[in-house]
Amino acid sequence: MTGFALALHGGAGANRKLNYARERVHMREAIELGRALLASGGTALDVAVAVVAELEASGLYIAGKGGSPNRDGEYELDACVMEGHTRRAGAVAALRGFKSPIEVARMIMERTPHVMLCGLGAERFAREQGAEPIPDEASWFTHACAGESNFAPGVMHGTVGCVVRDGAGRLASATSTAGVFDKTPGRVGDSPLIGAGGWADDRVSVSCTGQGELFIRAAAAAQLAFRVRAGAPLAEAAMRVMDEIAAFGGDGGLIAIDANGAIAMPYRSEGLKRASLSMDGALSVHVFDDD
Ligand code: ASP
Repeated sequence: MTGFALALHGGAGANRKLNYARERVHMREAIELGRALLASGGTALDVAVAVVAELEASGLYIAGKGGSPNRDGEYELDACVMEGHTRRAGAVAALRGFKSPIEVARMIMERTPHVMLCGLGAERFAREQGAEPIPDEASWFTHACAGESNFAPGVMHGTVGCVVRDGAGRLASATSTAGVFDKTPGRVGDSPLIGAGGWADDRVSVSCTGQGELFIRAAAAAQLAFRVRAGAPLAEAAMRVMDEIAAFGGDGGLIAIDANGAIAMPYRSEGLKRASLSMDGALSVHVFDDD
């Protein structure tokens, strides 16, 4: 047993007609990055943020460099981070002009008395704190969602996330997204909302992906945590949350890890780009249910 475990996702908008060979290789690399950091004593918070920053920087998912524009052609990005044993949290919404929203979310958590900043105030804060700016928006983003067109226009989406249980039993979650493709300017989904798209406490850590409006209405991440607190096994709690999203008529998925290192990654969509490293050291990478 390693004493630590982690899981990541690259969004629930997978389409069987597409080839995810690059994403599969990259998700394995991102898990190996997490494993190396955990093996050298990295905290759950450090690892969750480092893995999500790697997913953002890859340009392969609809977050960070892979982001897609809103209806006006602008890139408004969202992210949140939460540390379980302290219940500290940081989030940023509708952030423009910076490479790593998850690192800005962590700065907000650690350097302000607030949980969330948005829009122009978030941009000013990121600039003052020295977050790395995007040199030229028009040429930097890769629009990773191209081809994931199995959703109706207006609900194509994708996100990245990571949940970690470190060697000391601490939990953390990190989530980052460009949100829904062609979204209305100013639209904010579940991904930066603590309790909707992300959560961590001393029992469980969660990162969601899917039609954000439904995850907000379900209080998805907090609902999962409260089910666990009420005694439900992790897999059952996670499944119940996804049942509720499906009952709303939506799709998506989530990743969750508990204090024992158990991992759940249910989804109600064609696929969920996902990878995990369990407490016994087994690494898995999947996109669909038969691979
Ligand atoms: N939940 C994200 C949002 O609604 C999108 C996604 O996870 O695919 O912004």
